[in-house]
Amino acid sequence: MLFGVNLIPHPSISGVKIIENKNNFPISWLNTQGYCEYSIFLENVRKIITAPTRAMIQGSREHSVLEEKFKEEAEPATFDEMLESSKTAEILSRELPVISASYGIRGFIDEVWMTPDEFIIIDDKPGTVAYPSSINQVYGYCMAFKDMIKEDRKIVASLRQRGTDNVFWASYFDEKAEKKINYIINHMHELISGTKDFNSTDNPNKCNKCRFNRSCDRRV
Ligand code: SF4
Repeated sequence: MLFGVNLIPHPSISGVKIIENKNNFPISWLNTQGYCEYSIFLENVRKIITAPTRAMIQGSREHSVLEEKFKEEAEPATFDEMLESSKTAEILSRELPVISASYGIRGFIDEVWMTPDEFIIIDDKPGTVAYPSSINQVYGYCMAFKDMIKEDRKIVASLRQRGTDNVFWASYFDEKAEKKINYIINHMHELISGTKDFNSTDNPNKCNKCRFNRSCDRRV
Protein backbone atom coordinates (compact mmCIF):
# COMPACT_ATOMS: atom_id res chain seq x y z
CA MET A 1 0.00 0.00 0.00
CA LEU A 2 1.42 3.37 -1.09
CA PHE A 3 -0.34 6.70 -1.69
CA GLY A 4 -3.15 5.20 0.46
CA VAL A 5 -4.29 2.91 -2.38
CA ASN A 6 -3.62 -0.66 -3.46
CA LEU A 7 -0.99 -0.86 -6.20
CA ILE A 8 -1.26 -4.07 -8.21
CA PRO A 9 1.86 -4.81 -10.30
CA HIS A 10 1.37 -4.94 -14.07
CA PRO A 11 1.95 -8.53 -15.28
CA SER A 12 4.73 -7.64 -17.75
CA ILE A 13 5.82 -3.97 -17.44
CA SER A 14 7.83 -3.38 -14.29
CA GLY A 15 7.16 0.32 -13.55
CA VAL A 16 3.43 0.09 -14.22
CA LYS A 17 0.86 -0.58 -11.48
CA ILE A 18 -2.82 -1.21 -11.84
CA ILE A 19 -4.99 1.12 -9.80
CA GLU A 20 -8.76 1.07 -10.00
CA ASN A 21 -8.52 -1.24 -13.04
CA LYS A 22 -6.36 1.25 -15.00
CA ASN A 23 -2.66 1.16 -15.82
CA ASN A 24 -0.77 3.74 -13.78
CA PHE A 25 2.77 4.86 -14.67
CA PRO A 26 5.40 7.06 -12.94
CA ILE A 27 5.17 10.74 -13.91
CA SER A 28 8.97 10.81 -14.42
CA TRP A 29 8.33 8.73 -17.57
CA LEU A 30 6.92 11.87 -19.19
CA ASN A 31 10.45 13.24 -19.04
CA THR A 32 12.06 10.01 -20.29
CA GLN A 33 9.50 9.83 -23.10
CA GLY A 34 10.68 13.20 -24.42
CA TYR A 35 14.28 11.99 -24.45
CA CYS A 36 13.70 8.56 -25.96
CA GLU A 37 10.66 6.42 -25.20
CA TYR A 38 12.52 3.29 -26.29
CA SER A 39 14.59 3.51 -23.08
CA ILE A 40 11.34 3.02 -21.11
CA PHE A 41 10.78 -0.14 -23.16
CA LEU A 42 14.33 -1.42 -22.55
CA GLU A 43 14.16 -0.82 -18.80
CA ASN A 44 10.61 -1.90 -18.05
CA VAL A 45 9.59 -4.38 -20.76
CA ARG A 46 12.94 -6.00 -21.60
CA LYS A 47 14.02 -5.34 -17.98
CA ILE A 48 17.58 -4.38 -18.82
CA ILE A 49 19.49 -3.31 -15.74
CA THR A 50 22.25 -0.69 -15.96
CA ALA A 51 24.43 1.02 -13.39
CA PRO A 52 23.13 4.46 -12.38
CA THR A 53 24.82 7.37 -14.15
CA ARG A 54 26.94 9.88 -12.25
CA ALA A 55 24.18 12.49 -12.69
CA MET A 56 21.63 10.10 -11.16
CA ILE A 57 23.83 9.40 -8.12
CA GLN A 58 24.54 13.08 -7.58
CA GLY A 59 20.87 13.98 -8.02
CA SER A 60 19.76 11.47 -5.44
CA ARG A 61 22.45 12.65 -2.97
CA GLU A 62 21.36 16.28 -3.31
CA HIS A 63 17.75 15.17 -2.94
CA SER A 64 18.48 13.39 0.35
CA VAL A 65 20.34 16.40 1.77
CA LEU A 66 17.40 18.73 1.01
CA GLU A 67 14.94 16.21 2.39
CA GLU A 68 16.83 15.78 5.69
CA LYS A 69 17.15 19.56 6.10
CA PHE A 70 13.44 19.98 5.50
CA LYS A 71 12.51 17.22 7.98
CA GLU A 72 14.44 18.93 10.79
CA GLU A 73 11.92 21.78 10.85
CA ALA A 74 8.82 20.24 9.27
CA GLU A 75 5.60 19.60 11.12
CA PRO A 76 3.79 16.49 9.88
CA ALA A 77 0.36 17.13 8.37
CA THR A 78 -2.03 15.27 6.09
CA PHE A 79 -2.67 16.48 2.56
CA ASP A 80 -6.15 17.69 3.51
CA GLU A 81 -4.80 19.56 6.54
CA MET A 82 -2.20 21.30 4.35
CA LEU A 83 -4.85 22.28 1.81
CA GLU A 84 -7.05 23.70 4.53
CA SER A 85 -4.23 25.61 6.30
CA SER A 86 -3.02 27.05 3.01
CA LYS A 87 -6.29 28.91 2.55
CA THR A 88 -5.02 31.44 5.10
CA ALA A 89 -1.24 30.86 5.29
CA GLU A 90 1.67 29.76 3.13
CA ILE A 91 2.58 26.08 3.46
CA LEU A 92 5.60 24.29 2.01
CA SER A 93 5.74 20.58 1.38
CA ARG A 94 8.56 18.40 0.01
CA GLU A 95 8.42 15.01 -1.69
CA LEU A 96 4.66 15.24 -1.85
CA PRO A 97 3.10 12.02 -3.17
CA VAL A 98 0.52 12.60 -5.90
CA ILE A 99 -1.64 10.08 -7.68
CA SER A 100 -4.43 10.20 -10.21
CA ALA A 101 -6.27 6.95 -10.83
CA SER A 102 -8.29 8.55 -13.62
CA TYR A 103 -5.25 9.77 -15.61
CA GLY A 104 -3.21 6.71 -14.59
CA ILE A 105 -0.19 8.63 -13.25
CA ARG A 106 1.65 8.87 -9.94
CA GLY A 107 4.82 10.41 -8.50
CA PHE A 108 6.47 12.58 -5.88
CA ILE A 109 6.68 16.35 -6.32
CA ASP A 110 10.03 17.78 -5.20
CA GLU A 111 8.43 20.83 -3.59
CA VAL A 112 5.00 22.47 -3.42
CA TRP A 113 4.27 25.95 -2.12
CA MET A 114 0.64 26.24 -1.14
CA THR A 115 -0.57 29.81 -0.77
CA PRO A 116 -4.05 31.31 -0.37
CA ASP A 117 -3.95 32.36 -4.06
CA GLU A 118 -2.11 29.59 -5.88
CA PHE A 119 -0.15 26.36 -5.73
CA ILE A 120 3.43 26.37 -7.02
CA ILE A 121 4.64 22.97 -8.16
CA ILE A 122 8.44 22.77 -8.30
CA ASP A 123 10.55 20.13 -9.99
CA ASP A 124 14.30 20.31 -9.33
CA LYS A 125 16.60 19.81 -12.31
CA PRO A 126 20.39 19.51 -12.59
CA GLY A 127 20.84 22.46 -14.99
CA THR A 128 18.98 25.58 -16.11
CA VAL A 129 17.59 24.48 -19.47
CA ALA A 130 13.81 24.14 -19.69
CA TYR A 131 13.73 21.11 -21.99
CA PRO A 132 10.28 20.23 -23.38
CA SER A 133 10.62 16.84 -21.64
CA SER A 134 11.23 18.54 -18.26
CA ILE A 135 8.18 20.74 -18.85
CA ASN A 136 6.10 17.65 -19.65
CA GLN A 137 7.17 16.08 -16.36
CA VAL A 138 6.23 19.08 -14.23
CA TYR A 139 2.93 19.40 -16.14
CA GLY A 140 2.31 15.74 -15.23
CA TYR A 141 2.73 16.58 -11.53
CA CYS A 142 0.36 19.54 -11.97
CA MET A 143 -2.22 17.27 -13.62
CA ALA A 144 -2.14 14.70 -10.80
CA PHE A 145 -2.16 17.46 -8.17
CA LYS A 146 -5.12 19.20 -9.80
CA ASP A 147 -7.02 15.92 -9.88
CA MET A 148 -6.45 15.57 -6.11
CA ILE A 149 -7.44 19.04 -4.97
CA LYS A 150 -10.75 19.54 -6.77
CA GLU A 151 -10.69 23.32 -6.30
CA ASP A 152 -10.08 26.44 -8.35
CA ARG A 153 -6.87 27.92 -6.97
CA LYS A 154 -4.38 28.49 -9.80
CA ILE A 155 -1.48 26.09 -10.31
CA VAL A 156 1.97 27.24 -11.41
CA ALA A 157 4.41 24.75 -12.93
CA SER A 158 8.07 25.59 -12.16
CA LEU A 159 11.53 24.22 -12.83
CA ARG A 160 14.30 25.03 -10.36
CA GLN A 161 18.03 24.47 -10.53
CA ARG A 162 18.73 21.71 -8.03
CA GLY A 163 20.35 22.82 -4.77
CA THR A 164 19.59 26.52 -5.41
CA ASP A 165 16.65 28.95 -5.26
CA ASN A 166 16.94 29.62 -8.99
CA VAL A 167 13.52 29.00 -10.52
CA PHE A 168 14.54 29.23 -14.18
CA TRP A 169 11.18 28.48 -15.79
CA ALA A 170 7.59 28.93 -14.61
CA SER A 171 4.21 28.97 -16.29
CA TYR A 172 0.57 28.73 -15.27
CA PHE A 173 -0.90 25.26 -15.68
CA ASP A 174 -3.69 26.51 -17.90
CA GLU A 175 -6.11 24.84 -20.30
CA LYS A 176 -3.52 24.71 -23.10
CA ALA A 177 -0.93 23.04 -20.85
CA GLU A 178 -3.54 20.60 -19.57
CA LYS A 179 -4.56 19.65 -23.10
CA LYS A 180 -0.96 19.16 -24.15
CA ILE A 181 -0.03 16.90 -21.25
CA ASN A 182 -3.28 14.97 -21.50
CA TYR A 183 -2.34 14.11 -25.09
CA ILE A 184 1.10 12.82 -24.02
CA ILE A 185 -0.37 10.86 -21.07
CA ASN A 186 -2.80 9.18 -23.49
CA HIS A 187 0.10 8.41 -25.83
CA MET A 188 1.94 6.74 -22.92
CA HIS A 189 -1.09 4.61 -22.15
CA GLU A 190 -1.19 3.51 -25.79
CA LEU A 191 2.46 2.42 -25.55
CA ILE A 192 1.76 0.54 -22.30
CA SER A 193 -1.31 -1.20 -23.69
CA GLY A 194 0.59 -2.17 -26.85
CA THR A 195 -1.63 -0.29 -29.29
CA LYS A 196 1.41 1.80 -30.31
CA ASP A 197 5.10 0.88 -30.57
CA PHE A 198 7.80 2.58 -28.49
CA ASN A 199 9.72 4.94 -30.79
CA SER A 200 13.46 5.53 -30.55
CA THR A 201 15.37 8.76 -31.02
CA ASP A 202 17.30 9.48 -34.21
CA ASN A 203 19.66 11.81 -32.37
CA PRO A 204 23.10 10.17 -31.92
CA ASN A 205 24.01 12.67 -29.18
CA LYS A 206 21.20 11.31 -27.04
CA CYS A 207 22.35 7.73 -27.67
CA ASN A 208 25.93 8.62 -26.72
CA LYS A 209 24.75 9.82 -23.31
CA CYS A 210 22.15 7.07 -22.80
CA ARG A 211 22.79 4.51 -20.05
CA PHE A 212 21.24 1.79 -22.23
CA ASN A 213 23.44 2.40 -25.28
CA ARG A 214 25.51 -0.77 -24.82
CA SER A 215 22.47 -3.04 -24.92
CA CYS A 216 20.23 -1.03 -27.25
CA ASP A 217 19.41 -2.57 -30.64
CA ARG A 218 18.30 0.81 -32.02
CA ARG A 219 21.29 2.93 -31.10
CA VAL A 220 22.18 5.52 -33.75
S1 SF4 B 1 20.64 4.11 -27.04
FE1 SF4 B 1 19.51 5.70 -28.16
S2 SF4 B 1 17.78 4.65 -29.12
FE2 SF4 B 1 18.59 3.30 -27.53
S3 SF4 B 1 17.36 3.76 -25.72
FE3 SF4 B 1 19.19 5.02 -25.61
S4 SF4 B 1 18.62 6.99 -26.55
FE4 SF4 B 1 17.09 5.46 -27.15
